[in-house]
Amino acid sequence: MSLTREAIVEHLQQLLSAEQVVTDEQTLRERSIDNFRKLQHIFGVYTMPTPAAVVHVRSTDEVSQVLAFAQEHGVNVVARTGGTATEGGLETPVENSIVVDGGEMNAILKIDAYNMQATVQCGVPLQALEDEVRKLGLTTGHSPQSKPIASMGGLVATRSIGQFSTLYGGIEDMVVGCEVVFPGGAVSRIKNVPRRAAGPDIRHIVIGNEGALCYITEVTVKLFPYMPENHIFQGWTLKNMKEGFEVLREVMVAGYKPSVARLYDFEDGQLHFSHFAAPDDCIVLFMSEGNAGITKATAAGIEEIVARHPGCTPVDPARIEEWFNDLVWGPDKVLREDERIRTTRNVNRTTEISSDWSTINDIYEAVIPRIRAEIKGITLLGGHSSHSYINGTNMYFNYFYDLIDCEPEEENDKYYFPIIQIICEETLRLGGSIVHHHGIGKARSRWVKDEYGSSYPMLEALKQAFDPQGVMNMGTIIPR
Ligand SMILES: Cc1cc2nc3c(=O)[nH]c(=O)nc-3n(C[C@H](O)[C@H](O)[C@H](O)COP(=O)(O)OP(=O)(O)OC[C@H]3O[C@@H](n4cnc5c(N)ncnc54)[C@H](O)[C@@H]3O)c2cc1C
Repeated sequence: MSLTREAIVEHLQQLLSAEQVVTDEQTLRERSIDNFRKLQHIFGVYTMPTPAAVVHVRSTDEVSQVLAFAQEHGVNVVARTGGTATEGGLETPVENSIVVDGGEMNAILKIDAYNMQATVQCGVPLQALEDEVRKLGLTTGHSPQSKPIASMGGLVATRSIGQFSTLYGGIEDMVVGCEVVFPGGAVSRIKNVPRRAAGPDIRHIVIGNEGALCYITEVTVKLFPYMPENHIFQGWTLKNMKEGFEVLREVMVAGYKPSVARLYDFEDGQLHFSHFAAPDDCIVLFMSEGNAGITKATAAGIEEIVARHPGCTPVDPARIEEWFNDLVWGPDKVLREDERIRTTRNVNRTTEISSDWSTINDIYEAVIPRIRAEIKGITLLGGHSSHSYINGTNMYFNYFYDLIDCEPEEENDKYYFPIIQIICEETLRLGGSIVHHHGIGKARSRWVKDEYGSSYPMLEALKQAFDPQGVMNMGTIIPR
């Protein structure tokens, strides 16, 4: 028989100190959702089952004890660190879950400037680590827009990616080793070595597991020299996305590695560049960083490629640098955005996908008109590509809508899901991936079988092997 809420709380209070087990109603309501249902938080209308408790773990041993207890009694565990999730990964879809918050496991354990790697606990905000390594002239190379709040455990768990990914890669290229706790409480450590060929690379069972297989307690990531004095910014306006994708493709295929390589369509571009770009201008922009010789060669190579595209008109690099300096989202911007939504009932959402160079523009051209035709109340609809590879790129759809005949708590069903459905359908039809970097969460799990196709049994086998009782983040990645 399953435990009552009171019995779960009582057990947790025996495992941890009283102040580590939080049960006040407002906290429980707030911890029942994430940004996927952010309107419930903004308007104070919570509809999800609330957890039995939020526990603030302080050590790997405490995580182990809580996970052992949860598995023994079949209690759902939702791992949490920074809380910036956008895809429902933090939602508690069943009554009496335990939210295991690693925010207090926030020690930077070692910065090894000789071997160029740093080891941190899961609750270290990326910004805190970046600030420390900058004092040594180093950088993590990881810069998601949420970096002031997002923390190392969550960043690894979601396969996050940052603004400088074209040079440094995504988090999967940075994680050297880690420590994790599996349901039942077993602790595993993957050692820190530069490469291994000792069978499959099991780091990838951890990276992107979204709290559905294990709890990440410690992470070691690579470090890189930081040389801001060498940064070079470049930008051009142009009149269509197809040509912009071609510029990005040529830069990548030629082997250049700018840290930032972006293409904005005209509507998304107006959000950032309306002070110099015409309303029908797309913008392609680059930032090169690193060693002075490499950055100069990279910028010169990009210049040469863009010169072959007569539709491109140069932009003052200072405008691109200004844009770059205003990119990061801290708590102040989040609060301002929440207030804007509360007062205007105009909601901003994003969905990111990826595909190869042959199809990315087709996906863009298929999605935009369908959303415009099928969804009422759209006030802005556009997108940008922000992470490019030799074989393709991502597309980050950015859309705003007015809530028409819709209560805030109905927004997911009436607006968000229908839009995601269009994006997923068109992406899958044309052969892309429905998630580029935010994770599947619970929001996109209904399309996960189509995403994986004949490899879906491999995903199911992982879940079965590592979480046989199904207590880790129910409904995340694999639908309930
Ligand atoms: C304004 C804004 C900007 C963003 N920009 C970017 C961006 O540029 N790039 C990008 O990739 N993402 C971005 N995101 C999404 C989000 O920041 C990332 O998904 C981030 O990696 C989440 O980290 P977190 O610490 O906040 O994790 P949480 O929100 O706490 O958790 C995220 C997921 O990971 C799981 N999880 C958390 N901690 C652990 C753990 N210790 N062990 C196992 N599982 C765990 C959770 O269960 C959940 O499923 C943005 C979000 C916002 C709100």
